[in-house]
Amino acid sequence: MIYFIGAGPGDPELLTIKAARVISFCEVIIYAGSLVNDEVLKYAREDAKIYNSAFMTLDEIIKIMEEAHKQGKNVARIHTGDPSIYGAVHEQMMELKKRDIPYEIIPGVSSFLAAASALKKELTIPGITQTIILTRIEGNTKMPEVESLRLLSKHRATMVIFLSVDKIERVVEELKEGYDPSTPVAVVYKASWEDEKVILGTLLDISEKVKKEGIKKTALILVGDFLKDIKAYSKLYDGKFSHGFRG
Ligand code: SAH
Repeated sequence: MIYFIGAGPGDPELLTIKAARVISFCEVIIYAGSLVNDEVLKYAREDAKIYNSAFMTLDEIIKIMEEAHKQGKNVARIHTGDPSIYGAVHEQMMELKKRDIPYEIIPGVSSFLAAASALKKELTIPGITQTIILTRIEGNTKMPEVESLRLLSKHRATMVIFLSVDKIERVVEELKEGYDPSTPVAVVYKASWEDEKVILGTLLDISEKVKKEGIKKTALILVGDFLKDIKAYSKLYDGKFSHGFRG
């Protein structure tokens, strides 16, 4: 069996119990060494064969999975955060399907959730925003035109932008199309790691602040009014309202 595993955002304690259990019996481990905290490898068997996918192509990864499967071995394919978000897991699953190799997916704590925790913020504040957009700016991977930051910004939803901090100037330019320039922005570098950094600003000054800190990767850009100090209460715990569990 091939297990696609979300290793969480960095802090090894954010690995799920299930992920740790599965890692502990897999004979083969392929981990995304550029972002996965290698402390999660401490759960691996002593005799596990460990590969770092940062140095590998899709073909090489699939070949290792195929060989292991033929020998009746289990493979832990460890991704950062949750595999379903910019995990390049789709292409791996396609290749496994072609070869009739069974696989399972174990979800992980995505970095955007660790960023919200670092900020001590709710991403969905009643009356302010009830929608979260997870996106990125165009890089080597082309973006569908209808998903440009320019167009998405018109919703003024809570937006979390992956893989883009090195292009923060362009990001800000596009966001200004929809958000007011005074809208707060947070950049969270290495959320949940020991060297985590949080930079707060607005669309007007965040680029400069991020450059000053020298942040070029492993960071998320979060934008929206959810970052403001807002007094808003939910209906869920409002004494004047009843619901299924509270008459
Ligand atoms: N599947 C991952 C995302 C992989 S794409 C997830 O669910 O989090 C890689 C991008 O994720 C990085 O460029 C960065 O934007 C973001 N990222 C991953 N880990 C991070 C962390 N600990 N702190 C901040 N951003 C992170």
